[in-house]
Amino acid sequence: EPNAPYPHRRRLAELWEVEVQRFRAARPQSDLLFRQAKEHMADGVPMLWMAKWPGPWPVYVDVAQGAHFRCVDGIDHVDLCLGDTGAMCGHAPPASVAAITHQLSRGSTLMLPTADAAAAASMLAERFGVPSWQFALSATDANRSLIRYTRQVTGRRRIAVHDYCYHGTVDEAYATLDENGAVVSRRGNIGPPVPLDETTAVVPFNDIPALEEAFAAGDIAAFLIEPALTNIGIVLPDPGYHAAVRELCTRFGVVLIIDETHTFSAGPGGMIRADALEPDAVVIGKSIGGGIPAGAYGMTTEFAAAVRASLDLEDIDVGGVGGTLAGNAVSLAAIRATLGEVLTADAFAGMIERCTQWTAGVQAALDEFEVPWQVTQLGARAEYSFRATAPTTGSEAAHADDFELQQYLHLHALNRGILITPFHNMALMSPVTSAADVERHTVAFREAVESLYA
Ligand code: PMP
Repeated sequence: EPNAPYPHRRRLAELWEVEVQRFRAARPQSDLLFRQAKEHMADGVPMLWMAKWPGPWPVYVDVAQGAHFRCVDGIDHVDLCLGDTGAMCGHAPPASVAAITHQLSRGSTLMLPTADAAAAASMLAERFGVPSWQFALSATDANRSLIRYTRQVTGRRRIAVHDYCYHGTVDEAYATLDENGAVVSRRGNIGPPVPLDETTAVVPFNDIPALEEAFAAGDIAAFLIEPALTNIGIVLPDPGYHAAVRELCTRFGVVLIIDETHTFSAGPGGMIRADALEPDAVVIGKSIGGGIPAGAYGMTTEFAAAVRASLDLEDIDVGGVGGTLAGNAVSLAAIRATLGEVLTADAFAGMIERCTQWTAGVQAALDEFEVPWQVTQLGARAEYSFRATAPTTGSEAAHADDFELQQYLHLHALNRGILITPFHNMALMSPVTSAADVERHTVAFREAVESLYA
């Protein structure tokens, strides 16, 4: 059975209680900060996502360096979350920090370009194969900007996305399919402005006939995709899927936007470079800023020219694309240094090797205890899910979810000084993640699996 739920619920509840007690005993300083922080922030965190951790209170951080951080209770952690990719370069990478602090002392935001902007744009063009770039402060905003551009130049109203996609807090992308195949607002979507079927068509990942049907309606401006789903577990494309996507986008005049924010883990030019994909537009965010806010979006010559021809400079500041601090001098200095000196092709080779080691460690424990879970690697990123075979659609991946089981595994890891990405069973390798760091996870994961299945 591909998706057998974890059977021993009583045992899971008991194991959970043991880990909660262990957490409480080890983290009094975080508890203290939590109690103070709760007075002026909901759940004691600056953004509610940070409360979705396992355990009775959040872990408050003292200092982060490389692939590790130390919490306020003095516990060293191997960080396999890396800010859910924002710190994929490792924490405080020296080259990025030097460029950022240098630029900070020379002025950070001017509404004028610096030389770093052109250098960063040219590096992105070289990596992702499209020549014309603009900058934002987040991947979310890069996606939002491109969606507007595609509606502007095509004159069409809706976009298409994959079922169970995630592209940031972009209204149009919070759509999913219900059990009858209708487009509905995704579970948990906060305050949608309009019913989602007005803005969005949704197609299952790897489903070429569904995509053709969606495009045939004639009102789709853009197909916004991750080339592999990474936000509902990792779902890899079937052979030939991307060739079919490209062909259909061309045939129906749909702008193909590839969001590489997470799939950048596949290599120095993401999956676009690794799999020779041909998007009309590219989004990248999180990691490229070396730890500070930066996002970017690239376009082909043809698409960029169509966008530019449709815009009037007199109204450009009120058109709905851009932002006061977007493209600021510090972000651009950070991107230039991070791509040029930290997330290099050499660095990726080591990151991918580490991740192969991590994946083998997980697989070994699953084999030893005959556990019906699977693990999927995408370059420097890997994720296990609670089903026996790799999912081929987002909905298959979503149905393997087991929140209590996930919470236990996360807390078990945290109690052994290992942080894995919240909302996922995912690990990401930085250029400075070591074999010993990965081994710490391998040992702890085996112990967790043993507790559940032995
Ligand atoms: N695109 C993808 C593929 C992502 O995974 C995410 C964040 N998880 C985003 C966009 C949004 O990034 P941010 O929250 O930094 O805007």
